[in-house]
Amino acid sequence: MDIVYLNGHFVPRDKAMISPDDRGFVFGDSVYEVMRWYGGFFFDMDGHMNRLRRSLHETRIVWNDIDTFADLAEELVNKNDLGNDCSLVYVQVTRGAAPRNHVFPDPAVSPTVFASARRQSVDTLLWERGIAIAVAPDPRWNRCDIKSTALLANIMSLQEAHDNGFMEVCFVRDGFITEGAHSNIFLVRNDTVYTHPESNFILSGITRKNVISLAAENGIGLAEERVAADIIPYIREAFITNTSGEVIPVIRIGDQILGDGTPGDITRKIHVLFRDKVMAGSPVH
Ligand code: PMP
Repeated sequence: MDIVYLNGHFVPRDKAMISPDDRGFVFGDSVYEVMRWYGGFFFDMDGHMNRLRRSLHETRIVWNDIDTFADLAEELVNKNDLGNDCSLVYVQVTRGAAPRNHVFPDPAVSPTVFASARRQSVDTLLWERGIAIAVAPDPRWNRCDIKSTALLANIMSLQEAHDNGFMEVCFVRDGFITEGAHSNIFLVRNDTVYTHPESNFILSGITRKNVISLAAENGIGLAEERVAADIIPYIREAFITNTSGEVIPVIRIGDQILGDGTPGDITRKIHVLFRDKVMAGSPVH
């Protein structure tokens, strides 16, 4: 049975009731996290919890029990018999339910806290083959650093990319590559890996942060610098990162085939380093 967590209780998914006045539903007034359980441990749970704390702080949503979540997430995994499997845990915190009004409820109401877990292994075929990504203007707001559930701009762009046979979209803002609709983007030029610096125009990905540390620890040149979209023709290799896919090679950006159209050497190296780091994970969070 699919068990979810809602406001302090574990309940079957079809018994989880959320008010139609919930501000997450009405306004997208909520934040979320997705973390990966590797059949015995969460990868970088601290990183995910710190980012969730930051998203809550920036949106002024108050969830006093956030420190209990790491244990709760493991309980959720176990209640769904996913202890030995690769799975994703989703947690969403909304500002709560109140009559519709753009202004925050006053007095404040309790946040709605929902979490669920589902079995999902990483797609290893994508690691071997690589993916094609579209290029599109970045239509999002300028607080992409907040992991908000208000993802309509990401969804519209990703769907259009999918409709045209691409698996991700490479967003361009003011002539510079920012990130994907659900991943961070890394581009390799002249043996250096470039990725957009942390700012309000990207989400600070947990996978991204770990890739940056791995590059530094292993002598791979990596610069957190913006890359102009007009240098795409000179890019030899690229990859995207996110919690669900880890490090996924990119073999085409728009019409531009990268290198010989197979995953690049530096990408493969970083992919292996990341895999090793995951596999060395211990069952603590
Ligand atoms: N950017 C965006 C817009 C995303 O939605 C995601 C995935 N949540 C990422 C980057 C990658 O973040 P992470 O590595 O923490 O999954």
